[in-house]
Amino acid sequence: MERVVRRDVRELPKAHLHLHFTGSMRPSTLLELADKYGVRLPEALTGAEPPKLRATDERGWFRFQRLYDAARSCLREPEDIQRLVREAAEEDIADGSGWLEIQVDPTSYAPRLGGLIPALEVILDAVDSASRETGLGMRVLVAANRMKHPLDARTLARLAVRYADRGVVGFGLSNDERRGMARDFDRAFAIAREGGLLSAPHGGELTGPSSVRDCLDDLDATRIGHGVRAAEDPRLLKRLADRGVTCEVCPASNVALGVYEKPEDVPLRRLYEAGVPLALGADDPLLFGSRLAAQYDIARRHHDFSDDELAELARQSVRGSAAPEGVKEKLLSGIEEWLA
Ligand SMILES: [Zn+2]
Repeated sequence: MERVVRRDVRELPKAHLHLHFTGSMRPSTLLELADKYGVRLPEALTGAEPPKLRATDERGWFRFQRLYDAARSCLREPEDIQRLVREAAEEDIADGSGWLEIQVDPTSYAPRLGGLIPALEVILDAVDSASRETGLGMRVLVAANRMKHPLDARTLARLAVRYADRGVVGFGLSNDERRGMARDFDRAFAIAREGGLLSAPHGGELTGPSSVRDCLDDLDATRIGHGVRAAEDPRLLKRLADRGVTCEVCPASNVALGVYEKPEDVPLRRLYEAGVPLALGADDPLLFGSRLAAQYDIARRHHDFSDDELAELARQSVRGSAAPEGVKEKLLSGIEEWLA
């Protein structure tokens, strides 16, 4: 069948499951906040182009983290947090998102917001009001940092569970996969899972298939942040497909960080054809220069996804989300309308 119609991917209803907190900031907002607090930003963050990054070695990853830290240092007051979340919601809506799960390690914001618990409360309040103001369904994944001690992760997991009725739906693990083992964090993830949160650690981005296997074996992952390197192992792909583990694939991020050289090198098709459920995500638009709809555009332009296949990607993002059934049904029928 020939593709004659090229529908607008921004109008395709979808769920956004991989977006980091500071990384969601508009570049213009970063400049304004830096001005407000007299912060001198690194030049890489003030240019018209996104910074040149390469995280395939530890130095490159460190540089990426340093830029992220500089941006985060501009978020100091609850009103900054509220603005960030509201704008993230607005950007997502403009890109056709009908459900957003934003990922945050409240530890990083605790010093400026009066401690870990006040920080999480400020964040959850901001998510709640942005959701009401914009109409976008939003929830939070609390993510532990694998550069820190596993005991810190346990504390965070207990806190995340306590706030499950205030909008926390999942528990993640981020930062350099080359550091520490997934199993060091198994207790934290057990606490999160027993508390009803979904397990969504990062894996298979900077290191190969074994890191994805570790997420399945040791953390009982229901979703994997990235997971793209699973494409190197057909048996692992089958396992992900059989268990219905959604991989939150972020093509622009992969290219920006040098995980793959070019957009067409991201193994999107291999994962898709293997039946692994996917949810495309923007990861850190502030640093990578593109948002949610652009990821679907990459699938279309560089991987030749037809509109039917793009719709299927969108369905997979919705099914992989923690959205209530009613929201899922509404989004799924919106996807059919987009195709009709
Ligand atoms: Zn990420």
